[in-house]
Amino acid sequence: MNTTILKAENVCKYYPVQSSGFGSRKGVVRAVDGVSLSVRAGEVYGLVGESGCGKSSLGRTLLRLEEPTTGKVEFESRDLCSLQGGELKEFRRQAQIIYQDPYSALNPRQKVGDIIGEPLVIHHQGTKKEREERVQWLMNVVGLRPGQARRYPHEFSGGQRQRIVIARALALQPKLILADEPVSALDVSIQAQVINLLQDLRKQFGLTYIFISHDLSVVEHICDRVAVMYLGRLVETADKKAFYAGAQHPYSQALLSAAPQPVPGAKKQRIILQGDVPSPINPPSGCHFHPRCPEANTICKTDRPVLKDLGNGHMVACHMRS
Ligand code: SF4
Repeated sequence: MNTTILKAENVCKYYPVQSSGFGSRKGVVRAVDGVSLSVRAGEVYGLVGESGCGKSSLGRTLLRLEEPTTGKVEFESRDLCSLQGGELKEFRRQAQIIYQDPYSALNPRQKVGDIIGEPLVIHHQGTKKEREERVQWLMNVVGLRPGQARRYPHEFSGGQRQRIVIARALALQPKLILADEPVSALDVSIQAQVINLLQDLRKQFGLTYIFISHDLSVVEHICDRVAVMYLGRLVETADKKAFYAGAQHPYSQALLSAAPQPVPGAKKQRIILQGDVPSPINPPSGCHFHPRCPEANTICKTDRPVLKDLGNGHMVACHMRS
């Protein structure tokens, strides 16, 4: 559980913004702004934050679906940006992604068996018969009936479609899966089933997940560690227990205070943040959170706080915590 499978060092991902006239450059969106992290083999690493905080951009950069603007990403100690040809293809086999929306993730004109087996065809795995057998096996593994392989996606419910997406992601026996809001498009009644399936598959196949979500109760259920993102930066990372028992960053505390209570009637003091999330095109100086932070001080406006270990790997980026 302690081997690092994926490591990011000071990763930035900026997107140019064009002005409306003559294509001149207006600025950049700093979607990911100097993120360092390491994901251990076999763990579920939760990446949380409000919509637009950069967590999906970070996830895509970690899987080299986007090139980082600066910084370095290593998978099993190999620099991802240096991989070419066969090595890059092998990485693509080992790292898969599950998207939020199982409706748009599936080709409506393809039969489900062909969708699940497509990665095997692309990567030239096995004979036609072996691929068909593997598709049947995968459908069983994710709780679908193999007899449904000749049906089309529209014949399935949302939860079943997400099971199809998961089966396809498993086809090439990956080591790492990026799950980007995998249950947020599903009915609440179905979410727990898909989360439980992901947990079972992790145990069965020794998978590592990077689990992106805005839902802190889902993250608490499935993740081993939690990383909180705000305007492109990590502001706190900790083991799940330490985080939920005592989040330290003022932003994390506000997020937790707004999450639904698992125990009906339990009292919790809600922290109301002032103002809107600032634009990532022109983020605030110093600590990005300072215009909304109830504890902001003079230094917060000028100096960027770095992640500091407050003990047992509980890292917090805040001038007021030590
Ligand atoms: Fe708030 Fe300052 Fe800490 Fe940022 S560094 S979270 S503004 S107290």
